[in-house]
Amino acid sequence: EDEFIGFATLPDQVHRKAVKRGFEFGLMVVGETGLGKSTLINSLFLTDLYKDRKIPKVEETIKKTVHIEKKQLEIEERGVRLRLTIVDTPGFNDSVNGEENWMPIIDYIDSQFDQYYQAESGLNRKNIQDTRVHCCLYFISPYGHGLKPVDIAVMKRLHTKVNIVPLLAKSDILTPKEVKRLKAKILDEIKDNHIQIYQFPECDSDEDEEFKQQDKALKSAIPFAVVGSNTVVEAGGKKIRGRMYPWGIVEVDNPKHCDFGKLRQMLISTHMQDLKDITADLHYENYRAEHLAEEMK
Ligand code: GDP
Ligand code: MG
Repeated sequence: EDEFIGFATLPDQVHRKAVKRGFEFGLMVVGETGLGKSTLINSLFLTDLYKDRKIPKVEETIKKTVHIEKKQLEIEERGVRLRLTIVDTPGFNDSVNGEENWMPIIDYIDSQFDQYYQAESGLNRKNIQDTRVHCCLYFISPYGHGLKPVDIAVMKRLHTKVNIVPLLAKSDILTPKEVKRLKAKILDEIKDNHIQIYQFPECDSDEDEEFKQQDKALKSAIPFAVVGSNTVVEAGGKKIRGRMYPWGIVEVDNPKHCDFGKLRQMLISTHMQDLKDITADLHYENYRAEHLAEEMK
């Protein structure tokens, strides 16, 4: 079971389509430098992909990200093909005016829309490669007291273009109580600043009780408190991804330790299709309307 990434459990309808045509998904990480963006990407996808090959054991294998890096992966799982585009960004520092740091991120998203737009207006519209960014994981510092001015500024530039899923980064450095308090503060600040984060869809009333409970747990965990690690440690004869401390191991995949599992679940299984739909129907349509208005001038 756990040697799978998990997308083969996409809802049935999506599953059938995906079997035929393959499934495309674009994920981007954004936030201050050093918050664990590259590490989380690795924890989400890469170490799993290389499971049978050599797993990088040493954390230092992740180099500091200095420019926008696009990784494309094609994974096949139980007959379903997923084409995943992962966009890692260098991050920025505390300065709101450091536009040169975060403008390239906005430009990147726009240019994927533009490519799609060009392709859509071209002759061969059947096989458009979709490299649009369907989800942006936004990393918020656990060291601060909530959102920083730069977070507010950047999120406000992003929220009309992409689905923002906010994360409380490196949550292993906080106590459960601190996590709870900081999560509430972040949500308040998101609301007060009129930042539109990704809205999880309402749960269908005909879903079973277990699904409803899961859905509720997912929504109440936002912003997801995450821990990333590229180190595989042995615990009780099992190989797990975790961070070692003198007092014990923080297990990335343990729901009692953090929300990594919830994030992964929604991204690659329960909400992947919705993230794609919102991107196409809302964000891309916004872009297209703006573009058409430009052309009319
Ligand atoms: P990025 O600049 O956001 O891409 O951050 P990196 O992924 O390069 O990580 C920066 C440092 O933080 C590295 O030394 C990582 O090992 C460490 N790190 C990454 N994720 C976590 C985490 O969840 N908790 C803790 N305590 N450290 C982490
Ligand atoms: Mg990085």
